[in-house]
Amino acid sequence: MDALLPAISSPAFEHVQRALDLLGNSPPQTLLLEGGTELQRQDAARYWAARLNCPQAPAAGAPCLACPACAQIAAGEHLNLAAYDGRISNREDEASPGLVRALTTDNVRELKKTLRDKTRDQGQRVVLLSGLEHALRGSAANALLKALEEPSPFSSFVLLAVQREQILPTLVSRSFCLTLPWPDSRDIPPDMQPWLDALARFLRNEKSEDASFLERTAAKGALDQTSALALLLCCQKTLAPVLAGEQAASPLAGIFARMDAEKSSIFSRWLFEAQQSLTAGVTPARVVEALAMRLFVLLRKKN
Ligand SMILES: [Zn+2]
Repeated sequence: MDALLPAISSPAFEHVQRALDLLGNSPPQTLLLEGGTELQRQDAARYWAARLNCPQAPAAGAPCLACPACAQIAAGEHLNLAAYDGRISNREDEASPGLVRALTTDNVRELKKTLRDKTRDQGQRVVLLSGLEHALRGSAANALLKALEEPSPFSSFVLLAVQREQILPTLVSRSFCLTLPWPDSRDIPPDMQPWLDALARFLRNEKSEDASFLERTAAKGALDQTSALALLLCCQKTLAPVLAGEQAASPLAGIFARMDAEKSSIFSRWLFEAQQSLTAGVTPARVVEALAMRLFVLLRKKN
């Protein structure tokens, strides 16, 4: 059942789900989710949106994670769910406006207009805000701060960040902060290690006796949806301590450590998009290969 939100379906996240269930009885206007990996933060935010929009949640005290509303939220497609990411450029947003929009002044203005309206159903509007550390400058930032300050009885904002220090103190002080379990890079399942090593060799363009990354993904039945999701999660787990400034503990971590802040945030977003493609049913091997090749090119761009 919890497979709707795979990144937070492990027992380690049960207390996070229960905390969000309780919080749903009187939702704070602004919730801050820190810790965990980006995938885990996004899934926790969607769990929150499900808590506030699943028709069964008011009576059950928890979302069912099985009804159409919960499924739409997990896919990021529910009418009451809006997502903005400060890492998306205006150009990207105009060329192909996706489910997640850029934090531009125009988009924030549009958002502010909708905040005044009641939602069409019993649910609550949930606005996810990521990449704020890249966006909170200029006129878009001012417009967004105003929107967050005004009371919006039909809306709940969710700020997502690696740690709360990345977010303006004025915003943190008005948020309910919830910390997800910090990812542990030692916690890589043994069956995933060969995949990560092969990925590191692929990214370094290094020859080896062992099966190459693309040979592995091309092998029939080698990579199903579950193992592809596990692989993405392992990439996140490898990236998180690197972003926190820890010393690289594996060949793959060493490669990630050489990315500047912009590249690592692009890569974080790609990981999240790849997870969405997998959940939407795209062939796992294609998703993982495309991600590896985009990363290969990204690593060779000048910082
Ligand atoms: Zn439901």
